[in-house]
Amino acid sequence: MQDSSTTPDTPTFDVAKISEAVQSLIPYMIKSLSDFVAIASLPGNETPAAEYMEQLLADLGLQSERIHLNTETLKGLPLFSPPCCPDGGRYNILATHKPKSASGRSVLFNGHLDVVPTGPHDFWTNGPFSGEVRDGWLYGRGAGDMKAGIVCTLAAFKALRSLGVQPAANVGFNGVLEEENTGNGTLAVVSALRNAISTAKLTAFDAVLIPEPTQETLQKVQLGVFWLYVDIIGKPAHAGYMTTGLNPVEIGLQIVDTLKELEHEWNLPENRHPDYLELEHPINFNLGQIHAGDWNSSVPSVCTLGLRLSCYPDISIEEAKAIVTKRIRDVEARSNDPDVKVNIRHEGFNAPGCEFDLTTPPMLLLADAHLRVFGQEPAARSMTATTDARHFKIMLDVPVTCYGPEASNIHGFDECVSIASMVRVTTVLALFMQDWCGIEPLPA
Ligand SMILES: [Zn+2]
Repeated sequence: MQDSSTTPDTPTFDVAKISEAVQSLIPYMIKSLSDFVAIASLPGNETPAAEYMEQLLADLGLQSERIHLNTETLKGLPLFSPPCCPDGGRYNILATHKPKSASGRSVLFNGHLDVVPTGPHDFWTNGPFSGEVRDGWLYGRGAGDMKAGIVCTLAAFKALRSLGVQPAANVGFNGVLEEENTGNGTLAVVSALRNAISTAKLTAFDAVLIPEPTQETLQKVQLGVFWLYVDIIGKPAHAGYMTTGLNPVEIGLQIVDTLKELEHEWNLPENRHPDYLELEHPINFNLGQIHAGDWNSSVPSVCTLGLRLSCYPDISIEEAKAIVTKRIRDVEARSNDPDVKVNIRHEGFNAPGCEFDLTTPPMLLLADAHLRVFGQEPAARSMTATTDARHFKIMLDVPVTCYGPEASNIHGFDECVSIASMVRVTTVLALFMQDWCGIEPLPA
C-alpha cells in the first residue's frame, strides 16, 4: 500500500528492503536492550532508565523533553490513580522527530520504563538484570515488558534512516514511568499534550502505538483494573490463650474467599462481556501481598492484604469497587466482634476498561504492514490486563492500540523476549511509519 503523503519524488521501499535494513540493526537492538535491562528501573526508581532512553534518543539526533510527574496537578483528572510512590522529581520523556515537509500523518510511540519487582534473585538462572542472550532470547526483568518494544520503535526509525529517508511527519518517542502501578506517568504526558493542544502550541498525534509484549497481535479491548489494600485489625493475645484474641489473618482469608466467589461469578459465561467469551479465565482477582504478625507465639494484631482486581469494560471502576466493598463489609459484619476493624485503602490502579477501534485508518495500515511481513492478518486480542492505551483513548480519543513482540515469563522468573520477534515487529513498525507518515529524503 502506498501512502499519498509520501513526498512524490521519494521512492518507497518494499518489505524485503526494509527487512534487510532492520536485520542489519540486530547488534544495535541487542546492545541497546541489554544495557537497558541492566538498569533496574523498579517503580519509584525509573530515572536512570529515563536517562538511558534520553541517551538512545540523542544518538538518533533527537532531543528529549522532560515531563515531570506532579501528583498535585493530576489529582482532579478522572483517570488519576492514587500514587504508591512519592513524585520524587521523577519525569517522563518525550522526543519528537520533526520532518522538513510535515506532509504526512504523525504517530506517537509510547512505552513504559518501569519494571515490576523480581522476587528472590537466586530463582533466576543468571540474576534478574543480566540482559544476556541465550538461544535467541534476551533475558531480564523488563526485557519483554516492555523495554524491547521501546527498542523496536527506535530501531524502526533508525532502519528508515539507514535507507536515506525519514518519516515525513512528526514521530514522538515517549518513555513513561509508573505504568505498572498507577498509569500516572502517561496521564501526566497526556495531560501536558492536551493542554498544549488547547493552547494551539501543539497538534495532536494522529495515532498512538504502544509496543507492549502482545505476542505480535493487535489489542482490541482491555479490562478495568484496580488495586485495593485491606487492613484488618484483630485482637492480639498470647498463643497459649489464643481464644481470648482474634486473628486478623483468619478474617483476611475469609475476605479472600468471598472475593474469589465474586471472581468466579464474573467469569461465568452468562456474566461476561462479549469480547471475553472465548478466554479461559479473563477476570483475575490476585492476592499479590499479605503481611501480618511478628511473632509465632502471638495472635497478630494486623493483617494487610494487597489485591489487584479486574472488571469488564462495560462497568465503571466505581461500580466495581462498590460491589467489592460490600462483599468485604459483609465479612466484617459476619465476624460479629466489635474489636475487628477493616480499613479499605485505594492506592494504585484506578483504571477503567476500554475498547480500541481497529478499523480506523492507522490501525488498518498497521494490520496491513503486519500482513506483508508475516503473510497473514494479525490476530485481534482481548487483553486481561490494563495498559496505558486507556489514557489516549479516553482523554484524547486518538486511534491507539498495543502491538509488540513475543515475550515469555513477564512478571515471573527468567522473563525474556524473542529477538527474532523483535526483528519482525521492528520491520512492521518501519513499514507502518513509511506508509502512515510518508517518507522524505534525509536532510543534506
Ligand atoms: Zn507492560
